[in-house]
Amino acid sequence: MVKSKTEEEIELMRENGILVSKALAEVGKAVAPGVSTKELSRIAETFIRDNGAIPSSLGFEGFPAAICTSVNDVVVHGIPSDEPLKEGDIVTADITTLYKGYSGDSAYTFPVGEVSPETRRLLDVTKASLYKGIEAAVAGARVGDIGHAVQSYVESFGYSVVRELEGHGIGKGMHEDPGVPNFGLPGRGPKLIEGMTICIEPMVIAGGRSVYLDRNGWSVHSADRSNTAHYELTVVVRKGRAEQLSTFEFIEKDPAIKF
Ligand code: MG
Repeated sequence: MVKSKTEEEIELMRENGILVSKALAEVGKAVAPGVSTKELSRIAETFIRDNGAIPSSLGFEGFPAAICTSVNDVVVHGIPSDEPLKEGDIVTADITTLYKGYSGDSAYTFPVGEVSPETRRLLDVTKASLYKGIEAAVAGARVGDIGHAVQSYVESFGYSVVRELEGHGIGKGMHEDPGVPNFGLPGRGPKLIEGMTICIEPMVIAGGRSVYLDRNGWSVHSADRSNTAHYELTVVVRKGRAEQLSTFEFIEKDPAIKF
């Protein structure tokens, strides 16, 4: 049974959503050729702790770092490393926080220096598919409406959505019911009710939809090693239009950040 949140709970989650959004922007300021993903994780962790929150990926089911950093063909759960990013790479930062007892969760794929037009298109389409999903997340609709909106948009560009991973409800827990797949049929799945808080997070592969698990036990790669992108926002379901609890505006309004 999925419960909606009280407005008091939503207010705490809104504060946390802003914190996560600003943490993503701090990472974005540092993304450049030559910078390691470990350095990006360190920047995010410092920002999160300085603002009174906990980076909740650290130790989650044994995950070894404060944030996930997924480069190029890594879809999700990339482990920060000392390897420097290269011009033309893309890197997704996926940040989860615990703040005043509630979880926050958002992700953004950044270009590293100049990227190819093909890569640019993958980023643009994946981000646009997230907003298509948010548009579908209104009270009275169903979870399948979100997945259908994301999938039909993504596939119209010849890309694939990952089916093994999905968005989720969020609250005190990082992952709550319902699961929010990036594929589906309109009118199917759990009903969306006002006050439900969910994370919508299209994970898109430029090539085919198959994925495999890295031998590190965490990182999920595209099977054909093509590039992948991933954008995630937390929203609260409302009548007429979902309300975003996290935002990309700290990234996209900052002239120092390449996005
Ligand atoms: Mg998530």
